[in-house]
Amino acid sequence: SKRGRLDRYLAKQLIQPKKAIRQLLLQGRVKVDDAICKDMDKQIDEFSHILVDDRTLQSNQPIYIMLHKPVGVVSATQDPNHKTVLDLINHPQKHELHIVGRLDLNTSGLVLLTNDSRWSSQLMHPQHKVTKRYKVRLANPIQHEYIEGFANGFHFEYEGVTTLPAKLEIVAEREAIVSILEGKYHQIKRMFGRYRNPVVELHRLSVGLLELDPVLKCGESRMLTQSEVFLVR
Ligand code: URA
Repeated sequence: SKRGRLDRYLAKQLIQPKKAIRQLLLQGRVKVDDAICKDMDKQIDEFSHILVDDRTLQSNQPIYIMLHKPVGVVSATQDPNHKTVLDLINHPQKHELHIVGRLDLNTSGLVLLTNDSRWSSQLMHPQHKVTKRYKVRLANPIQHEYIEGFANGFHFEYEGVTTLPAKLEIVAEREAIVSILEGKYHQIKRMFGRYRNPVVELHRLSVGLLELDPVLKCGESRMLTQSEVFLVR
C-alpha cells in the first residue's frame, strides 16, 4: 500500500537531495497532520496531511461509501454496455474510488467503494476471511442435506480449490441466508448448482460487520459513518 518514509516522499516531491530534505526537516518547516515533524523516518501514507512552509503538499481525504446496488448495474468503474456502480454515486472525487468486492450483474445489495486501499484490503484479502452474507431465492425447494454440503465445501474444478465451510440457513421453502468467507466467481450460484437448484435472486446483506442500511433504496448510497469505517480496522 501507499505507506512510506516522510524523507523519501519529500525528496521525490520536491526533487531535492536527501541532505536538503534533512535540513528542511531540522529547520521545522515541515508539518504532518498539523504538527511540526523533524523525523526523517516518520511513516506517512496517502492520507497524511503534509505542509512545507505552510503550503499544502498533500491533503487527500479518505472516502468510504455504501451503495445498494440494483440488479442490472455492473460492478465496474467503466463499461460500454451497462450502467456502472460509479454512475450511481454522486461525489466530486468519485473517480478516485475503487470497488470493494464485486457483485454479479444480476445480484443486488451491499457494495462498498473507497479510495483507501489499506482499508479495502482488510475486507477483501482472502487471508482475512471476512464473512459475506447473502439472501438467496431458489427456483426449487431447498433440501436439508444442502446444509451439510455447504459446511463441508465443494471442490471447484476450474480453480482447483475447495470452498471454505459456508453456513446455510433455510428461512422458507425457497429462501435461504448463506454466509461465505471468500468470493469465488459465481460462488453461491455454483454451490446451489451442485443440487441443480438455480438461484433466481441474490442479494448481499453484509460484508463483515458492515450491513446494508435498510433505509437505502435500490440505487441509493451514502457515506459510511466514522464508527462503520472503524468496524473494519
Ligand atoms: N455469489 C454469486 O454467485 N454471485 C455474486 O454476485 C456473489 C456471490
